[in-house]
Amino acid sequence: PRVPQPDRKPMALLPNPPSSRPTVLVVDDSLEALNGLCNLLKADCNALFGMNGLEALALATSESPDLIVLDVAMPGMDGYEVLRRLKKEPTTRHIPVIFLTAPGPGVSEARALELGAIDFVTKPYDPTILRARMHNQLAYKRSLDEAVALSMGDALTGVPNRRNFDEHLKQEWQRGLRTQRPLSMILMDIDHFKRFNDALGHPAGDACLQRVASALNGSLRRYTDFLARYGGEEFACILSETDPEGARDVARRMAAAVDSAAIPHPDSPVSSHVTLSMGLTTLVPDPRLLPVDLTLEADRRLYEAKRLGRNRIQSEPAPPEPGA
Ligand code: GH3
Ligand code: MG
Ligand code: MG
Repeated sequence: PRVPQPDRKPMALLPNPPSSRPTVLVVDDSLEALNGLCNLLKADCNALFGMNGLEALALATSESPDLIVLDVAMPGMDGYEVLRRLKKEPTTRHIPVIFLTAPGPGVSEARALELGAIDFVTKPYDPTILRARMHNQLAYKRSLDEAVALSMGDALTGVPNRRNFDEHLKQEWQRGLRTQRPLSMILMDIDHFKRFNDALGHPAGDACLQRVASALNGSLRRYTDFLARYGGEEFACILSETDPEGARDVARRMAAAVDSAAIPHPDSPVSSHVTLSMGLTTLVPDPRLLPVDLTLEADRRLYEAKRLGRNRIQSEPAPPEPGA
């Protein structure tokens, strides 16, 4: 039986669009301290508050704040331990942390910086200086986020690019080696796209790619389903822990979504609308194989789908070439 999955969020490349307010998580066991920081932040940030280490870790994971302002001395888990755990998790390791603490025994700026804190401020603080330090970190974080989004996203369609695809495939392959669960891939190629461009012009071709990407992306259901622009008019989907039947369901849903988009293709010999050919394959990752073997097999089946007349999903291995 398929495990029900929560509704999928639309793929977001930038954690926060440039126009939005940054989110700052403030962690302190003193209400008075939280109040002071709230006043400092409320004009231009969304402020989240935690009063102990566990709350801090939970909020950092669920809300992905852009900055954390962290007290050292708190009952239970202290700030150093919170920072150590934040740095251990791939999802929270990149969030900058500023320590804000009263000087005292066991409080060490050196230790904070060595653990990876980006800055260290002692109480009582000068509000203007603390504000400026927070803003500098937020500005730096924003440009870093934008750079990551640019390097991992496709500028035309907004879906992950080829580099991101390679990275994701490597990770899923490693995971599959451990879990021994099947990994599926769908390679898709728009049929007779050269004719589309020739008939309607390159800008219309670009718009078509955007609509196809959005139809494909909209048909994914699981958080772990991953769609990328693989090349010019090719898209690729990586489906972790998905068997052949599951992969065929996704492929059919994608084909149906592109069909419903009904993008006219005046010069296609196979349909009046834009169609796709798809090759899909499933493997249980094996140390004797490489991630690229999954891509190669999907590509063979895509080629087979083209050869058999296009506008179809090919999930069987291609028969040997005559004479081969
Ligand atoms: P087939 O059904 O065999 O896939 O035929 P095809 O015409 O789709 O394949 P071919 O590889 O001959 O042509 C791909 C075309 O896709 C040619 C290229 O100009 C176009 N293309 C690739 N990237 C882009 C792009 O970013 N924008 C636009 N408008 N066209 C693109
Ligand atoms: Mg192509
Ligand atoms: Mg094509």
